[in-house]
Amino acid sequence: MKPQDIEGVKQLLASPKKIAIIPHRNPDGDAMGSTLGLYHYLKLKGHEPTVITPNEFPDFLAWLPSSNTVKVFEKDTETSNKILSEAELIFTLDFNMLSRTGDQMEAALKKLQAPFIMIDHHQKPGDYAVYAFSDTSYGSTCEMIYHFIKGLGDGDIIDKTIASCLYTGIVTDSGSFRYPSTTGTTHRVVAEFIDKGIDNTAIHSLLFDNHSHNRVLILARALQNMKVLPAYKTSYTTLSQEELNSFGHTKGDTEGIVNYGLCMKDIEFTAMFTENKDEGIIKISFRSKGDFDVNQYAREHFSGGGHINAAGGKSTESLEATIQKFIATLAHTKID
Ligand code: 5GP
Ligand code: MN
Repeated sequence: MKPQDIEGVKQLLASPKKIAIIPHRNPDGDAMGSTLGLYHYLKLKGHEPTVITPNEFPDFLAWLPSSNTVKVFEKDTETSNKILSEAELIFTLDFNMLSRTGDQMEAALKKLQAPFIMIDHHQKPGDYAVYAFSDTSYGSTCEMIYHFIKGLGDGDIIDKTIASCLYTGIVTDSGSFRYPSTTGTTHRVVAEFIDKGIDNTAIHSLLFDNHSHNRVLILARALQNMKVLPAYKTSYTTLSQEELNSFGHTKGDTEGIVNYGLCMKDIEFTAMFTENKDEGIIKISFRSKGDFDVNQYAREHFSGGGHINAAGGKSTESLEATIQKFIATLAHTKID
């Protein structure tokens, strides 16, 4: 954060304000942890914040403090639009293009006059924000929120509630501290959170040992569906809408499954294709080990983006046609 930007933000926050805080569509642990962490900080500072998610957040994040205050734009559109139009300041967290909120919410956001502040760690930020704290070297937006609050001179008021929210995104986006973006600083931030009293073991368990039996069956099906292409050091798996329906899936059930594709020796690249008939798309998740840049790959082939080792994209073709296209790209993709 540049000193003049910090001063600018301090001025914006100098008097109590109505503030909307927005994560990306299909919010994950980092999106929900960062928005709710910032929400609790702004409340402590006397503001009137509201988190508005574009669509519903998954059940496994419902334990996050004050998640019951979150408005869901695509469900409570009227209330959300009212809050947005009255907001004097808007934070967008864990994404950097308004299109990541979906067509409906993007259109609503584009009409607003209030200034935007972006805090995000994805590549290629858009230019809609007055202040953009955009840094791809951070493993999570939650870690950035910690530094943002500290930069504003308020490190001391980070309490157990804020720390529990921020710990969530640091853990989920770092794959429990195993991805390369995990730094000494990441561990020092978390050490501070533990000293502030967060129950790190309980939070980890709430996040990862909290699945329904159906979700385990969905994981089992995805593992059965997994294909390996040794010549390309690649694996991929699929979940059709019919399979998901047969297990009575709910939002969040497919979270994290893509990572299993990398657990094999000599596999450097993996993809998971999830059919979503409601939205008429195949949602794709990409993961890699080492230097193969899946953000670049997702941008080039599947209208997506993300980070070097974790990215997403989509396709409007059928599941079969999408797989065919994926396999065809591998012949001219260098995976090392
Ligand atoms: P996931 O595979 O868990 O959905 O996403 C992995 C990473 O890629 C996350 O950081 C997510 O924000 C990003 N991502 C997922 N889908 C898209 C997409 O369609 N466009 C862009 N730009 N980023 C995405
Ligand atoms: Mn993130």
